[in-house]
Amino acid sequence: MLKKRTDIQEKDTWDIKSFYPDFESWEQDFKFATETSETPYWPSLINLQGTLSEGIDKLVETFEITLRIERRLEKLYTYAHLRHDEDTTNDLYKTAFERISSLLHTFHTASSWIHPELLSLSEEQITSYLNAPQIIDYRFHLEKIIRMKPHTLSKNTEKLLALAAKPLSGYQQIFSSMDDADFDFPSFRDGYGEERELTHALYSQYMRSPDRILRERACKLLHQHYASFENTLSSNLSGQVETQIFYAKARHYKSALEAALFPDAVETTVYETLIDTVRNNIDALHEYTQVRKDILSLGDLHYYDLYVPLVKSCSIEMSYEEAADCVIESVRVLGSDYQKALAQGLKEQRWVDRYENLHKRSGAYSSGCYDSHPYILHNYTGTLNDIYTLAHEAGHSMHSYLTWKTQPFHYSQYSIFVAEVASTFNENLLTNYLLHYYQDDEQKRAYIINQQLEEIRGTLFRQTMFAEFELRIHQLAEANEPLTPKRLRTLYRELVAFYYGDALNIDKEIDWEWARIPHFYYNFYVYQYATGISAAHALCKGVSEGGSAEKAAYLNFLKAGSSAKPLDLLRIAGVDMTGPTAVQATIDKFRSLLKDFN
Ligand SMILES: [Zn+2]
Repeated sequence: MLKKRTDIQEKDTWDIKSFYPDFESWEQDFKFATETSETPYWPSLINLQGTLSEGIDKLVETFEITLRIERRLEKLYTYAHLRHDEDTTNDLYKTAFERISSLLHTFHTASSWIHPELLSLSEEQITSYLNAPQIIDYRFHLEKIIRMKPHTLSKNTEKLLALAAKPLSGYQQIFSSMDDADFDFPSFRDGYGEERELTHALYSQYMRSPDRILRERACKLLHQHYASFENTLSSNLSGQVETQIFYAKARHYKSALEAALFPDAVETTVYETLIDTVRNNIDALHEYTQVRKDILSLGDLHYYDLYVPLVKSCSIEMSYEEAADCVIESVRVLGSDYQKALAQGLKEQRWVDRYENLHKRSGAYSSGCYDSHPYILHNYTGTLNDIYTLAHEAGHSMHSYLTWKTQPFHYSQYSIFVAEVASTFNENLLTNYLLHYYQDDEQKRAYIINQQLEEIRGTLFRQTMFAEFELRIHQLAEANEPLTPKRLRTLYRELVAFYYGDALNIDKEIDWEWARIPHFYYNFYVYQYATGISAAHALCKGVSEGGSAEKAAYLNFLKAGSSAKPLDLLRIAGVDMTGPTAVQATIDKFRSLLKDFN
């Protein structure tokens, strides 16, 4: 029986009172957040509309007012979402969460004039603003907005594009409606004759099951189901790709890829270098596939044999306190200030909401805002996975903690491109620590190494294969080649064969895997998983083997928030993602883990 929220001991919950002492104070703050009780809200901001051409002072004033409002709204929002997640059936917090979400939406509409008005100023005026001494604190903030000018169209065309946005988002919507709502996968019998249901969540569980008949049937049935809709699904994916090409052409980009990467100032060479480096080292994955085939000794190795653990599950279990101590010990290389702050967060300041309770949100995340300390939602049960999750979220939290302490509010949020670096970095530190901790226990070491190998395979190799597929289908469409079911099947099969090598026997059902991947509707998103894990591995190696300069560079990155372009931030940390070094370092790590494992 799960405990009720009210029955959880306070010491095991996050310290919400240091945020707002009670709900009354949240209500008070909420009342002031709109400046006035009558609409339109935020008259001070509304009055500035149409004045940005009058001089730099008006622009600075606009920034200051906007940021002040945003900061208050963010605080209100964060508190409401944390409280809501403690018990998602609690009506008071559910309502509070909806109220603040709706107010945020109102604010975005009320402030939506700022960027277009700024971008409509003449080149001359923009240059003079950029060089004005008054803007110094907001200079990069202004540059980020202005970067978009060459790809921003006339007022009427922008209006037309905004009108088209809703219908053009239909393809992603259609996929998710089919995949999440309409699709009903058939049930089947496992290797013991038991009737089994098939759902998305169960599918990934089945792929790890020792029952091979269960795995084979689930894998084939699932893909056959997508295959039976291949015409609809390929037309739909084609529509999504054409949409991105339409936007890229309308906004004067050379390609859909360039259009997707430009807002984050990531050069397309980063994407291409990732793919090239992985392709040049694909023998490492082939070797892993061969090792898997040898260890499982099943005769043939099939796609449905790729996720079964290679080491019999062994019991690495820890209490929350032990896990926290491990995580704190593992970050020693980052220095005593870092370690002390983390120890306080995980043990004394109660950043973490530790255990599950009735109706608490599942999973884990790191949250908080500029005016609070970090907060970690966990559902800790003591498994090795949970220990890694704690290390991962603690990595995010320390990134936020150091950024919030160092940066002004407008540089306090970091982009997706750099977000997973700090978390994966800390996971690596934990691995190094645990391998040392269990140095005399071969079984446990093998279990940990297996987990690491799987992480790199799933995050670097598989996501790069997806990234390559995504690039190739856009390039085909850009060359006016239709994305027919046959074309997609052939391309996908070629990629699977190239990435996994001869040791894998590819069943025909795998030709339709492209049809079930939701990420192909996210517009060149997945490559960031691969670059993120690569940057983390390279940096972790540099810091672990290096001296105080490497450590200081990495800590400066953690303090930098979004005060520079993502690629420049990683350069500060000590890794250049435009070259192959980071990806290469991760593959080298993969090779050495594989050697250890063998
Ligand atoms: Zn994360």
